This record gives sequence, C-alpha cells and structure tokens, in this order.
Amino acid sequence: MAHSVRVAHLAKERAVAIEAVERASRVCTAVFQRLVTEETLTKKDKSPVTVADFGAQAVVNAILERHFPDDPIVGEEDSKDLRGEDGRALRDKVVDLVNAAVDQTMSADEVLGAIDRGQYAGGATGRHWTLDPIDGTKGFLRGEQFAVCLALIVDGKVRLGVVGCPNLPVDASQPLGDRGVLAVAVEGEGAFQRRLHAPSDLETPMRVSAVADPRDASFCESVESGHSSHGDSAKIAGLLGIHRESVRMDSQCKYVAVARGNADIYLRLPVDGSYEEKIWDHAAGNIIVHEAGGRVSDVSGAALDFSAGRTLKHNKGVVAASGGVFDAAIAAVKQTLADKLQTA
Ligand code: AMP
Ligand code: MG
Repeated sequence: MAHSVRVAHLAKERAVAIEAVERASRVCTAVFQRLVTEETLTKKDKSPVTVADFGAQAVVNAILERHFPDDPIVGEEDSKDLRGEDGRALRDKVVDLVNAAVDQTMSADEVLGAIDRGQYAGGATGRHWTLDPIDGTKGFLRGEQFAVCLALIVDGKVRLGVVGCPNLPVDASQPLGDRGVLAVAVEGEGAFQRRLHAPSDLETPMRVSAVADPRDASFCESVESGHSSHGDSAKIAGLLGIHRESVRMDSQCKYVAVARGNADIYLRLPVDGSYEEKIWDHAAGNIIVHEAGGRVSDVSGAALDFSAGRTLKHNKGVVAASGGVFDAAIAAVKQTLADKLQTA
C-alpha cells in the first residue's frame, strides 16, 4: 500500500540525506555501467570502485555542506590518493564524474575539499553525519549488492539513516524483477522503503518478520569470510535448528533484508579479534532495523555504541534480528563464541 509519511522530526535532514544518497547511487551505477567490464572483472582491477567511492563521497559531502555547513562528517575516504602528479589521472576522472552529478560545477580543489570534509573524529557530543559512499565494494565489482549509507548521529546516538541499494530487488520474492531500493528511518518514526529515484509519496513501511520459532528462521551474513566467520555462523545456525541455507550478501543491504522481513537474523561474527567495526558500516542499518521493530547488538548482546569515535571500539561483531528470534540468536552466539569472548 502506498503510504504518505508525516515527517516533522528531522524533516529537512531526511529530505537532504535522501537526495544525497540518490545522487551518489546514480554516480555508482554510472561508473558500473561505464567502467566495470569483463576485463575489469577478470583482471581484478579495482579502479572503478575507487573512482565511484571518491565520486560518491564528494557528491554526498558537497550536498551536506550546502544544506548543513556546520555539520562535520565521518566518511570512509580521504583525498590523499587524488593529490599531486601521481593522483592526476584518478582526480580528473573523479572531478568529471562529480560534475555530471551536481548542479553547480565544482573545481578540482572543491571536489578534494568536499571529500576531506569526511575526516571528522566522531564522538559523544553534538551532531555529525557518517557516510560509507560504497559499502560492499566487492559486491559492487561483482554486479551484486552494494549500498550508499548515510546516517546522522546526535549526542552519540543514531537519529536518521538512509541506505540506497541500487541492485536490491524491489520485491524480494521477484529476484529478477525491478531493482533499486531506498530504505530510510528517523528515530521514533518507523522505517520505510521506496524505489530508489521515486517520488517521496510512494513510501511503504518496513516491518521485521513475525517468525517466533528460530527453527523457521533464515539468516544472512557477508559474502566475504574475511568479514564474518562462516564457520561460526554455521555452528550457531545448527544450535538454533535453522535448516535454511544462509543468504550471503554484501553491504548494509543485509540490515535492509532483516528490516523488511526477507531474513530474520544478520550475523557478523568477528574473524580477527582486533578488528574494530567502523561506524559508517553500521549506523544507518542499525536505526533502520530498530525502527522496523527489530533489535541490534554486538555478539555479547550489548547495544552498538556510536559515541566512541570513528569505530565501534566498545563492541565486537554485530547481531541484528527480528524481535521474535533475537534472544535465541544472542544465546546461541554467546554459547558458540564463549571461548573467543573470554579471551577478547
Ligand atoms: P560486508 O559487505 O558485510 O562484507 O562488509 C563490508 C565492510 O566490511 C567494509 O566496508 C569494511 O569496512 C568491513 N571490513 C573490512 N575488514 C573487516 C573485518 N576484518 N571484519 C569485519 N568487517 C570488515
Ligand atoms: Mg563499508
């Protein structure tokens, strides 16, 4: 059912964040169509994703600067690789790309400056945005799932999240149907989805699944086993009596899958005990799942702490799930990781 949304709280931030994510998503899609070829894929050439990453970050940061000049940004990229003679070829590509996506022409210096607005340290007080211009770079290069993720954090808590998923099927039951989903949530107002690049009055609420028996649950995890332990997730699934295959998917599209009930549990299980999750990899997805009625924590059951800077240094891993299976999932995760959690 089409749904008209009341957007009083953070209304301007919501509208600007959606515009920024949509424009950056177009940048990524354009790069994919032009630069990701058979040759790129076979040579494992990562340059297209680099170009799109910088271009998308410049576009989002420039739009945020125009509307909220005082808000700092925690962004994944900085402009080091684009500077000087060595960076010229990449810089020229990024500047052209950005100028095809913004209304007012930007000089090379302005593009580099916009990218470097992402260097903020984060923290517990005041407002800041956090951006992952392309989350799931491996998925982007494979033509699979990736996401442009933007969130607003105020006094250490996520208040608004937008995730643009250019390759996610609009209807999960029609995997070969139309693609391109935008998910958005404002604290206290629920989570909504719409088609990417669609008018704002065509939003529908997202709700997590109502599954109550973990044996009926499905779970999703990273495609990359270096980002989340597939061995541990298989053990946890075994403990929960889950018989369905895991759904492997890159990027914060996994949070969107849980928020709209396509999967019941998202497991992100530490592979390397010293890795600190980055706030831009989780902020937007976290509020979207919460506002869709789900729960999110780290592997010990503690809430994700977005007030500690650029990383989630007080947390290890992530578990997101619908309300009906969250407690069972955490219990199984704790049991499976007991040894690792003690030594961490
Ligand atoms: P995913 O698409 O879920 O596999 O997650 C992609 C994100 O994983 C990237 O944006 C990286 O920031 C992040 N990442 C990189 N190394 C690790 C690691 N060792 N453990 C967990 N996440 C990682
Ligand atoms: Mg990322």
